[in-house]
Amino acid sequence: MDKVTQERISKLHPSVREEVTKIINECNASLTGRAQVRISQGLRTFEEQNALYEQGRIKAGKKVTNAKGGQSIHNYGLAVDIVLIIDGKTASWDTAKDWDNDGVADWYECVKIFARHGWDWGGNWKTFKDLPHFEKKGYNWRTLLSKKRDKNNYVIL
Ligand SMILES: [Zn+2]
Repeated sequence: MDKVTQERISKLHPSVREEVTKIINECNASLTGRAQVRISQGLRTFEEQNALYEQGRIKAGKKVTNAKGGQSIHNYGLAVDIVLIIDGKTASWDTAKDWDNDGVADWYECVKIFARHGWDWGGNWKTFKDLPHFEKKGYNWRTLLSKKRDKNNYVIL
């Protein structure tokens, strides 16, 4: 696992850090070929979320989210976005490519591993498919928003 990914895991909600470490290690072990998984985004502050929401609305660019600050599971450290790093250097969001030639697209190998650990994939969403996105099953932002925070500002689950 690369350093960037380790650092992003260390900022996720404490309840999922160990699990995500396991998931990423399993993904990397199963992608025996040229691709390895990097977490491109984990915890996102409300401010960062609002800035994303403005993109394609009151700011230039393409719309990338329908969630305002507090409305994304990322805002609680319970979601990650992934990207594949090919040969240790090139980022790829190709969900169809089978880099290790085992008959299953590498991206889907990861989807299955996340699912086995109880994580939902944004690629299954009916509207606004979010292919890089995974989130811990069983949480919704409205409930999370109303929860108390601990001294490190993580919601108390
Ligand atoms: Zn995401």
